[in-house]
Amino acid sequence: MSRENTCPVCGTRGLSVEVPYRSILRENELREAFVVQRLGHQPEELEAMDLTRFMHGGPGRILRCRECGLLVRDEADQSHYEADMYDSALMSHLYPRYVRAFEQKRDQYQPLLRNRAAVLEIGSHLGAFLQAGEEWGWSPIGLDIGAATSAFARRQGGTVKRLTLDDYSPKLRRPEAIFIWNCFEQLDDPAAALRKSQELLDRHGLLVVRVPNAEYYRAMHSKNSQAKPLAYNNLLGFPYLHGFTPQSLSRLLRAHRFQPIQTHNSTLLTPPYPDMSRRVNDEWRQVRRTEGPWLEVACIKTETSS
Ligand SMILES: [Zn+2]
Repeated sequence: MSRENTCPVCGTRGLSVEVPYRSILRENELREAFVVQRLGHQPEELEAMDLTRFMHGGPGRILRCRECGLLVRDEADQSHYEADMYDSALMSHLYPRYVRAFEQKRDQYQPLLRNRAAVLEIGSHLGAFLQAGEEWGWSPIGLDIGAATSAFARRQGGTVKRLTLDDYSPKLRRPEAIFIWNCFEQLDDPAAALRKSQELLDRHGLLVVRVPNAEYYRAMHSKNSQAKPLAYNNLLGFPYLHGFTPQSLSRLLRAHRFQPIQTHNSTLLTPPYPDMSRRVNDEWRQVRRTEGPWLEVACIKTETSS
């Protein structure tokens, strides 16, 4: 197998097969057909990003840790799609939808930080959260290694550094909060990201992590009738390296001295279709009522592990 057969959360050896190759293949085919039906055509090269092409969306199987419930994607093909093939017109088109999706989270997150708080976002993508954060009175900085996405985010007025978390060191003040909205599940070493966050954050700093909910995927993926909520939440074929359950995420956070203070059931931010046709809008409105496909946890940096 291509990945070490050890759980990166709890260290248990011997992960078992939860979803075999043939089932992932079937889910990937289902995803393609689902998108083609809604687009009305085969997606063109650039349109396909975030719809049918993902960094970890190819053939593979899903393993599971019997001890903590973590899912681990074991991939047959390690040559992933280039993650930064974005079209400027498409980004402009999607951007306002992402901003609106973040703005809807205002009541959950704005009260957690003071005005002018220094905020770091890891994987700032199009910069939509940077804009929302500024509207909420914070001073956000984004980290993103993508050339096209970070250039786009800067054109929207965002402050973005093309650095990995490992290479980042704050020049003026330590961040009072770190947000990882959509990439924690794609990191090879999520524990290393938490260690670095612990080191960077100010005293009692806030960490917010958002991940697909592995428990939801596990309960739904074998039911044919559930293809729609899975597809709209980008869970078909489970195109992520790690799948956290609420318990495995909490366990990992606590082990790195982060005390969870809020957990929110959530959904995908917005379907990344270039155009929201009436059908897509209606279906999305319907499946959005199913809260639980994604998971958001806010926690506070503490001095001791709990
Ligand atoms: Zn485990």
